[in-house]
Amino acid sequence: MSNSNDPLTEFHWLVEVLQTVDVGVLVLDLQYTITSWNGFIENNSGIDSADALGKSLFDVFPELSQDWFKHKAETVIQLRNRAFTTWEQRPFVFKFRNNRPITGVTPYMYQNCTFIPVVSTTGKVENLAVIVYDVTDVATSKLKLNKANEQLAELSRIDALTQLFNRGYWETLFENEFMRQQRNPRELCLIMFDIDHFKKVNDTWGHPAGDQVIRSVARAVKENSRATDLSGRYGGEEFVILLIDSDIDNAFNFAERLRADIEQTKVETDVQTLSVTVSLGVSAWSEKFTEHSEWIEAADQALYKAKEGGRNKTVRSSD
Ligand code: GH3
Ligand code: MG
Ligand code: MG
Repeated sequence: MSNSNDPLTEFHWLVEVLQTVDVGVLVLDLQYTITSWNGFIENNSGIDSADALGKSLFDVFPELSQDWFKHKAETVIQLRNRAFTTWEQRPFVFKFRNNRPITGVTPYMYQNCTFIPVVSTTGKVENLAVIVYDVTDVATSKLKLNKANEQLAELSRIDALTQLFNRGYWETLFENEFMRQQRNPRELCLIMFDIDHFKKVNDTWGHPAGDQVIRSVARAVKENSRATDLSGRYGGEEFVILLIDSDIDNAFNFAERLRADIEQTKVETDVQTLSVTVSLGVSAWSEKFTEHSEWIEAADQALYKAKEGGRNKTVRSSD
């Protein structure tokens, strides 16, 4: 408080503080005419006070959503209560350019705002004050952190070579699906497959060529499966696909199509054009599985039979 008892002096320094404070203050009457604003609003809007005072808020800030703002203001006036908006609900109320030194993150100032009913000496609410806080720094660092966390989560789910789910994440999804299946069964089939004689590819053409082959096989998986199917890289050159809403005949046909597609694909590696074949095992879900690992074991057994039976073929787990 001021040492002076002179109300005019007090008013004067209060206005001085309001003009220079690093927070926006904008006052409206009940017809949404701007009656007053401070230096923060003038500087950040780039609008001269002389061009704004006495004008309608919505003429001065045409991009402001009238419906939204009026709804907010009317609630504040009727209830005589403050209201808040955060940048998380609405990045900004007033479209001010971001003038912080961090470049390239956001073109606009993130804002938190408080709406305050201003009661006159007669006890009526005759004005509405909007206080604008610049929270660009907080918002951008929070957004950057969220993005980094998303990327980290993605990295731990996706296999870098093939962009399929990695084994750990695929197994988590598979186990969830297995548990869901016990409550509410659907037609589900599991396919497990492995590239034939892959050691020979590595030994003859080198590991990088082998990697290109693995990538090409993964591409065939993506191209042949549906968005709802769960495909993963289970091991080095071993893959798994959980087909949703697919009976054993459909799954067998799917596996055969995939097998033929891979067999016919010419893989252009850096050293040589190669082609490989795969062996596949297909297993339909059954009530007899008490653990998800038993189902994987059944598909693996079928895959083993396909290898034993001469490779480049599909075997059903009941065959
Ligand atoms: P089979 O027909 O019985 O499957 O014979 P195979 O030679 O393919 O035998 P297996 O499936 O056991 O081979 C696995 C090989 O895959 C061994 C390993 O060197 C290779 N491998 C595993 N991961 C990778 C990888 O990320 N890149 C490359 N290039 N090779 C890998
Ligand atoms: Mg193999
Ligand atoms: Mg293998």
